[in-house]
Amino acid sequence: MARVYNFSAGPAVLPEEVLKEAADEMLDYRGTGMSVMEMSHRSKAFDTIIKEAEQDLRELMNIPDNYKVLFLQGGASQQFAAIPMNLMKNKVADYIITGQWAKKAFQEAKKYGNVKAVASSEDKTYSYIPDCSDLDIDDAADYVYICENNTIYGTKYKELPNTKGKTLVADVSSCFLSEPVDVTKYGVIYGGVQKNVGPAGVVIVIIREDLITDTPLEGTPTMLTYKTQADADSLYNTPPCYGIYICGKVFKWIKKMGGLEAMKAHNEKKAKILYDFLDQSELFKGTVEKKDRSLMNVPFVTGDADLDAKFVAEAKAAGFENLKGHRTVGGMRASIYNAMPIEGVEKLVEFMKDFEAKNK
Ligand SMILES: *Cc1c(COP(=O)(O)O)cnc(C)c1O
Repeated sequence: MARVYNFSAGPAVLPEEVLKEAADEMLDYRGTGMSVMEMSHRSKAFDTIIKEAEQDLRELMNIPDNYKVLFLQGGASQQFAAIPMNLMKNKVADYIITGQWAKKAFQEAKKYGNVKAVASSEDKTYSYIPDCSDLDIDDAADYVYICENNTIYGTKYKELPNTKGKTLVADVSSCFLSEPVDVTKYGVIYGGVQKNVGPAGVVIVIIREDLITDTPLEGTPTMLTYKTQADADSLYNTPPCYGIYICGKVFKWIKKMGGLEAMKAHNEKKAKILYDFLDQSELFKGTVEKKDRSLMNVPFVTGDADLDAKFVAEAKAAGFENLKGHRTVGGMRASIYNAMPIEGVEKLVEFMKDFEAKNK
């Protein structure tokens, strides 16, 4: 059985080593005689799994002690509501709209307060990150919200916005653990893990303790109250146990690879191979402003929808899966997350060169 090169935006490629280890432990997890899927979330074995996962994540990201790490369900999308419900003291928040995910979060937050879009790149199909050095931040804003890496459009903030002292909240779903991060610059960092970290079903929320309130907005469900989850160390109810177990293995894999500095170098190397090719190609073109290019998601087009479709079909036949672009951008998108080997990108570029030569 051959594995393909999987360029899916999410759920996405995971390290083969991790999958093999999980397979080895499937029927009997370390002498327990059962799979992690079958064990109580209150068991000793699972307690060790979740504590080690948290510890490894803390080490990788250098998370200070005054931040809580929560392993939750509901995906990144559920946080679109949880964030305003827990953080809105003044019922005011400012959002920067750099793509569909930011826009969805913005629209959800509007249900709960006075929410303003202080910058947007919608005018050019989200192909750039707006200048965020001097935004009209509301004096009463409870937080400023960004989507740090825009999965669909392939842009990433190279510099965090100037929030004028307000709490920064970031959706990092598609750049989680792709490079070092200074956690202290954020109030909340969160992401669904199915892009760069693990299987769908887990969302990780890293939140500064002073933002965890006893008094979220009236009517906030118990399950969406960060305090409930923080006080119970993510075990208020049954957490996504198996997903957390796989995330834990991915954290150990990243540590073994050299941590986030090494991940960044690995990701930069891969992205450079692809962008360098796109920049000299006469057929394929990248779709975003160079200064804002993501290391993780690389959209590109030929400019001809039929040729795009032909490329996607021929690539699939050659073992390069999930290269079709998002319907709002068209063309192609190669997601080259942590677990994508360099060789996958090199072979993709070889294939693209060959396609270009045949279709000029
Ligand atoms: C995929 C994605 C989401 C949505 O994640 P779900 O877990 O499906 O809710 C949100 N934000 C970003 C940046 C994403 O890439």
